[in-house]
This record gives sequence, C-alpha cells and structure tokens, in this order.
Amino acid sequence: MKFSELILNWYDENKRNLPWRLTKDPYKIWISEIILQQTRIAQGTSYYNRFISRFPTLESLANSDENDVLLMWQGLGYYSRARNLLFSAKHIYNDLGSKFPVTYNEIIKLKGVGDYTASAIASICFEEQTPVLDGNVYRVLSRIFELENPINLSSSRKIFKEKAKSLMSTKRCGDYNQALMDFGSLVCKPQKPLCGSCNVSKLCKSFINNSVLKYPVKTSKNKIKTLYHDYIILTKDRKTLIVKTEDGIWKNLYQFPVCISEKKQSKLYLQEYFKKKYNSSRVKISLINQKFINHKLSHLTLKSRFWNINIENNVAKGLFVSDFTDFPMPQLMRNFREKYKTKLSIF
Ligand code: SF4
Repeated sequence: MKFSELILNWYDENKRNLPWRLTKDPYKIWISEIILQQTRIAQGTSYYNRFISRFPTLESLANSDENDVLLMWQGLGYYSRARNLLFSAKHIYNDLGSKFPVTYNEIIKLKGVGDYTASAIASICFEEQTPVLDGNVYRVLSRIFELENPINLSSSRKIFKEKAKSLMSTKRCGDYNQALMDFGSLVCKPQKPLCGSCNVSKLCKSFINNSVLKYPVKTSKNKIKTLYHDYIILTKDRKTLIVKTEDGIWKNLYQFPVCISEKKQSKLYLQEYFKKKYNSSRVKISLINQKFINHKLSHLTLKSRFWNINIENNVAKGLFVSDFTDFPMPQLMRNFREKYKTKLSIF
C-alpha cells in the first residue's frame, strides 16, 4: 500500500472532530488556519468558535472595525495576523465581489497568507494538490526518509515541498494534508513517537534503522533578542493612563506608557526618561514587581517591570480609563492586571 493510502486509512479511523472540519467554506478554513498557526488545538478551538460567532461570514468581518477584531484576537498574540485578516477580508469584499479566490496562486496573493495557509485552503476547500508543510509534516517526512536537511533552514524548504508533493494523493487532497498534520501531532510526536503502533513503520527508514530521535535535524538556533520594557502606572481620579501602540508587534493595541531598552535601565534613568517625556519638573517612581516578568515570543524575550509613578505636573493628555474591556491589550498587560489588580485596586 502507498504512503498516502496508509495515511488516509489512519485518518479515517482517527480523525479528530474539530469545528472547521465540518465545513469547506474557505472563509472559515482561512480563519481556522491563521488561528492554529499560533496556538494549540484546544485553545485554538475556543478562539475559532468565538471569532466565527462574532464574524460568521466574510462580509461581517469585512464590515467590522479593527478594534473589534483585535478584541476577539486578544491573547492570541501575533496581532499583525488579525490586522491582515481584516485587510484581506475587506479586499475580497470590496475588490473581488465577495468571491473568495479558488486557486493556490490566487489565494497566496492575499495579504498575510503564505505558502502554508494557501496550500491548506486550496487543498481542503478546492481539492487542489498543494501539500502543506508545518512542523508536524517536516518531522514525519524527515523521519520516514531520514532527511538530513535542517528543517529550520529556508534552503531545506524546497526539498521538503517536493518530497511532500511526490507523496501526495491525487484524490482527497484536503484530507491527506490534514491527515499528515494530525498523524504528526498524535503518532509521530516530537518526543516518544508511537512507533510500536504506527501503521507506516514498515516504510519508515528511521524506524528500520533505529534512528528516529535523530530526526528532524535542526541547526543551532538563531540568537533570541532580549528587550527591557519598563511600564508606568499613571493614575488620575482612579483611572489609569493607557496609550495606543503606533508600530511594532503590538501596533494598534493599548498598553501602559513604556520605556523600551536593549539593556536593563536604572531607576534614575527611568525617572529622567519619564520626566522628559511628560515635561515635568519632578518624577518619582517605585517598583511594583520585584522580579522581571518574562514574556517569550518566537524571536524575542521581553523582560518587563511595572512602576508606580508620581509626577509633579498633571498629565492632561492621553486616555485615562477605569474599564479596560473595550481596549485590545497584549497578553502581558492582561496578566499583569490579573496578578496585581487587588494590590493596586485601580483596575
Ligand atoms: S515509525 Fe515512528 S518515526 Fe516512523 S513514522 Fe511511525 S511514529 Fe514516526
């Protein structure tokens, strides 16, 4: 039996019941694929359900405003993906007559859609023979064929893509792609793969050669940058100052005013920084969290501290709020509020 048949047989018996598997609507598949790029299935499912019940159709998303979309996305991270979803929904609605593109070559032109998402939508919704490559697929292929090409090098991508295409079934293309990803996450797992009960073990070179855990091959990681975020909690009449972020990963989300540095800054430095920023004659700050709060992103570690601030002149400008519900905020802010809301009694 061919590899694709074995994988589809496995899928028919072990397929997970997930809400986006009940539809071929490209809009819903698109939303699910973008959400699942950044979260586990369990958490992704609840985000998907919330998002689809708020924006059930492409038209409803296209006619919404960014603040609402970011609020639905809050906590998922990678907010540029939410902004791109909205941009592309508006583009399909306004420029393409609400007709979702139907081929890989057209889908990939949408802003925020890369090879993975275009392949998934084209295969699942339109049965195009476009293999997907995610971490699970890389791992399965590298183990079965003992591929030595490091999976974290872009130069390996073409090799894996060609291999995946050569193995792909010509029928049930969408099922095949989903099968391979499910198989990777449930059977050919990163640690402790279930080789003993694996129905493709007879074809698997690394199993036959007892080298399973050597694969996938990775080169040493790129250095992850560290940034120091010093936030100030500035209150007036029991309301707290928040600001809209103008650029970067949290563009258009709300945060407390912040000083960002590549090294740890002293209290004195921060006092001078905020003194200048608010054109004040005297600023005093005091630390709220004694230990840095670490927030890890794929390419970056943020080390954050939060400071109470006492400021000589009255800061008039800015958005002072007591209820944060309507303001999309990064997970870091929400975690901080959750932890300190009783102690600070201002949130
Ligand atoms: S035999 Fe083991 S390593 Fe090979 S595909 Fe199956 S689970 Fe993965």
